[in-house]
Amino acid sequence: MTRPDDWLDDSPKEECGVLGVYVPGAEAARVAFFALYALQHRGQESAGLAVSDGRQVRMHKDMGLVSQVFDEDVLATLPGEMAVGHTRYSTTGASVLHNAQPIFCQSVVGEIGVAHNGNLINARELRAELTAEGEAFDGTADSEIIARLLVRHMHLGPENAVAATMKRLEGAFSVCVLTPGMILAFRDPHGVRPLMAGSVGDGWMVASESCAFFPVGGVATHEVRPGELVIIDRDGMRFAQAAPPRKEAKCLFEFIYFARPDSKMFETTINAARRRMGMELAREQPASADIVVPVPDSGIPAARGFAEVSGLPFVDGMIKNRYIHRTFIQPDQRMRELGVRMKLAPMVDELAGKRVVLVDDSIVRATTTRQIVRMLLDSGAREVHVRITAPPIKWPCFYGIDMSSRGELAAAHMTVEEIRAHIGADSLGYLSVEAATRAVGKPSERFCLACFTGDYPIPVPDGLSKDALAHPPDVGQLATVVVKP
Ligand code: SF4
Repeated sequence: MTRPDDWLDDSPKEECGVLGVYVPGAEAARVAFFALYALQHRGQESAGLAVSDGRQVRMHKDMGLVSQVFDEDVLATLPGEMAVGHTRYSTTGASVLHNAQPIFCQSVVGEIGVAHNGNLINARELRAELTAEGEAFDGTADSEIIARLLVRHMHLGPENAVAATMKRLEGAFSVCVLTPGMILAFRDPHGVRPLMAGSVGDGWMVASESCAFFPVGGVATHEVRPGELVIIDRDGMRFAQAAPPRKEAKCLFEFIYFARPDSKMFETTINAARRRMGMELAREQPASADIVVPVPDSGIPAARGFAEVSGLPFVDGMIKNRYIHRTFIQPDQRMRELGVRMKLAPMVDELAGKRVVLVDDSIVRATTTRQIVRMLLDSGAREVHVRITAPPIKWPCFYGIDMSSRGELAAAHMTVEEIRAHIGADSLGYLSVEAATRAVGKPSERFCLACFTGDYPIPVPDGLSKDALAHPPDVGQLATVVVKP
């Protein structure tokens, strides 16, 4: 899917952040607002909060960043001690307000607000079935299907409603639900998308990543298990196994790129995992060079690890403009060609005459990498050796990441040497799947690796995969290609 601001950066886009907070005696909307800030990297298209005062659930959501969607006046309209929140990057459903979340529905227990991160692979069938039974959907997001199923089962009680809903869902989902008196948070039986639980003050909290806890004085103490349900109410926080766990399939890309470096999941901090990926990369794909330069920000820990093992100096060869966010202003042709310069600027003095190892997290379409290599060479770098802390991405993601078609993935139709030539680098090397999972510290069987291997842990129905997999397989060799040693 080509997006209006892909000319700025073609890296894979995050998929959504969810959270729920219960803060006795405090304003949940205010706490949730600051926690949502820490999940901004997971979605910048829209943001929303649903808040309960114990009797009524109220909601506010809009297009834009958290800081654009909420102000003091808005927060004042959201009284109560319980809240769920959402930051959105659309992976199914258009990027429009009626697909923003939380999704608000009436149920037998009162209004509910539903926030979802992930992607259902049986959304088409469920939508058709529910529509045939008389459901009139407000939007096109698959998250609304979850909300409608929950509403249908609420007469069983909230906890049983979650169990009954989970039986119908196939795919990746971490979900937070607010009822007038309760927060319910659950993770799919494969555990694809992250979800953490913990405390905040005298209350309780759940969030996509542990980085959301810190700014509000919270502590993430438990990674929600595959198929597990977290129940937060005035009696505290408790856990139940709402669906039997299936083959574990945590998204490896969370560790490579999506999650924030200070987050902790699968018993490691993301920063440490990325540093180890850089160390593995230096062993698997060494380069004859003078300096190691990261593509900021996600390439920084890996570049440090690469420098440590290779003995080459780590150099800040580029600076990132931190104030560039999603834009829907269309560039003219000249700006489109300059593209990445809006986000990154070279430190010319550091680069002049140097043989550079450029460390980045991934190559999707290769347009951004190509522009960065060009920029470094134009700034005086003598050679650029690109090293990537992910294996080649050859297959689309059906579990909530915006890499939905084989046709747009460079490694699906080019060999490593062809990509090397396309981006204009002197050499190109990728990290192997084995080394990437070793760097996280868990066996590769416990991860989803589908976008690298084509081995989908949750079977993808034919109707969904036909278009996305249309591109003929042409798997390039995993190897370093050195043109100018
Ligand atoms: S296909 Fe790739 S991006 Fe998608 S969930 Fe699996 S590892 Fe993550």
